[in-house]
Amino acid sequence: MVIDTHTHAAQGWNEADVREHFQATGVAKVLLSAAPMDFWGSDLNEGCARLIELFPDKAVGLIGIHPPQIDQSLRDIDQYHRKGFIGVKLMPTTGYYPDDERYRKVFEEVNARRMIVLSHCGWCAPGLNRPDLPQCTLYSHPYHLEPLIRIFPETDFIMAHGGGRTTFQEAFELVQYHENAWLDTCPGHGTWILQNAGAWLNVLNWSRVLFGTDTCYGRRGSFANFKKVEEFVRLCLPYAGFPQHVEAVMGVNGARLLKKHGVLLP
Ligand SMILES: [Zn+2]
Repeated sequence: MVIDTHTHAAQGWNEADVREHFQATGVAKVLLSAAPMDFWGSDLNEGCARLIELFPDKAVGLIGIHPPQIDQSLRDIDQYHRKGFIGVKLMPTTGYYPDDERYRKVFEEVNARRMIVLSHCGWCAPGLNRPDLPQCTLYSHPYHLEPLIRIFPETDFIMAHGGGRTTFQEAFELVQYHENAWLDTCPGHGTWILQNAGAWLNVLNWSRVLFGTDTCYGRRGSFANFKKVEEFVRLCLPYAGFPQHVEAVMGVNGARLLKKHGVLLP
């Protein structure tokens, strides 16, 4: 069973394309992250909610929030948690540190609802529509999630893209020591790290590595992301010396996480 814990929907997606895309990937379930703002060409909360209504057996939602907008974040958490979304998606590279105490009440709310936090880690890809934001890779450093990981041990935190190419060691450390810390395999950094992390792969706790692809459902060409990561995990992981972890990464770990959050699986 393949579970993809890091996906998006294209703005302007249509049902036929998304259906075809789901058939092509053949996934059992995806975590669908809404974009926290109109920035990357991927769809926002309302569009993701519509997609999930059409494909309830395939997709489960993560609410896109921008914690510096505290009241808006709290409203969105309430509105979309009621609709069945099971976590939040953060993009700290848009100019905030997640552990900034000014935004703590947002994470208290997330924790009270036992939701998942999926946070972008690594390189800050320039956004499309908001050059005014103070964008920087440093905001997404995994150690800016560590205080939250420690304060809220019941909340599961996923560090995307393997923790980021220049900061993956910190993510590996957090996954090693904290049962609520996870990372995903999303390209480009995630797959790069699995190929190049060398001895660091020996300290990685593979039971909390999730198959994530950043596939954007409804966007032409995005299937390549899915194929790239799937082929990497299935073919290259054994060559790197970790054949025993392939099935765990492809879906067993994701299934454990989703079941914990009440998601029914086939
Ligand atoms: Zn993503």
